[in-house]
Amino acid sequence: MSEQPRPPGSPEALREVIARYGLSASKALGQNFILDRQLLARIAAIPGLGEGDSVYEVGPGPGGLTRALLDTGASVTAVERDRRCLPALAELASQYAGRLTLIEGDALKIDERAALGTGVHVVANLPYNVGTALLLSWLETTWPPWWKSLTLMFQKEVAERIVAAPDSNAYGRLTVAAQWRARPAIAMRVSRSAFVPPPKVTSAVVHITPGDSPAGVDPATLADLTRAAFGQRRKMLRSTLKSIPNALNAAIALGIDPQRRAETLSVDQFIALARALA
Ligand code: SAM
Repeated sequence: MSEQPRPPGSPEALREVIARYGLSASKALGQNFILDRQLLARIAAIPGLGEGDSVYEVGPGPGGLTRALLDTGASVTAVERDRRCLPALAELASQYAGRLTLIEGDALKIDERAALGTGVHVVANLPYNVGTALLLSWLETTWPPWWKSLTLMFQKEVAERIVAAPDSNAYGRLTVAAQWRARPAIAMRVSRSAFVPPPKVTSAVVHITPGDSPAGVDPATLADLTRAAFGQRRKMLRSTLKSIPNALNAAIALGIDPQRRAETLSVDQFIALARALA
C-alpha cells in the first residue's frame, strides 16, 4: 500500500527519518524504536507537561518521543549515546527553536543535579539493564530528588516488581527501593508490536513521583537490610538478618516474627527496622 503524501507542515514519518539518516536499530545499544505518533503522544502526556516544564529524556534515538515531548510545550534536554542519531536530533532541535538541548554521551555517567538543576521531569524508553541501573541511582539520590517525576519504559516484569505488594513473587529489593519514599504506578502497558524491531517481552510505562523521606532512616541501612533479607528470599529472617548487627533483635522488638520471610514484610516494616538500627 503506498503512503499518502505528507500534508505541508506535518512532521516526516519516523520511518523516513530512520531511512534518511541510516538509523538501523542496533541490538548492542538495545534499540527498539516506537514509531507510532499517537502512542508517543500518549506516553508524553503521562507526566502532565506544559509550557515552562523541563524534561530530561534519556535515549531519544531517532527522536519520536522527543518530538512528542516538545509538542507539549516543554523544553527538553536529551542525552543519546549513539552518535548516528545526532544529525536527526539536531534537525529536530532546529524545528523547535531553543527548546531542545542535545548531549552526546552515556546517561550512566551524567551528574543530573549539576547538569539539569531541580524540578525536572524524566522520560525515557531505555534498554532495560540501563533503565534499572538509572532508576536505582535516581531513587538513591539526595532527597528531595532533583527530579519531579520519572516516566520510564520497562519490561513488564520489572514494572511489576516496582509496584508489587508484599506476599507476591514480584515483591523484592527493587519494590522497597521504589516505594519507601516515592510513589510508583504502572501508567500504561505497551505491546511488543509497538516497537521496531519488536522486543521479546511486553513492556510497561511506570510513572513515579517523590514522596516524603521517612524521618530517622539511613538509606544505606535500609539498602543493607533489603539486600540481606531478599538475598535468599526462601529463607527465614532469623537466618538472613544474621549478617546485620542487631537486626534480628530489632525485628523481634518490633513484633516481627523471625520465622517470617522477607517477602511477607511490608515496606513500612522495612522502614521501621531501618529506623531502629539508625
Ligand atoms: N526513545 C526512542 C524511542 O522511544 O523510540 C529510542 C528508544 S531505544 C529503546 C533506546 C535508546 O537509548 C537508543 O537510542 C540507544 O542508543 C539509547 N541508549 C542506550 N544506552 C544509553 C546510555 N547509556 N545513555 C544514553 N542513551 C542510551
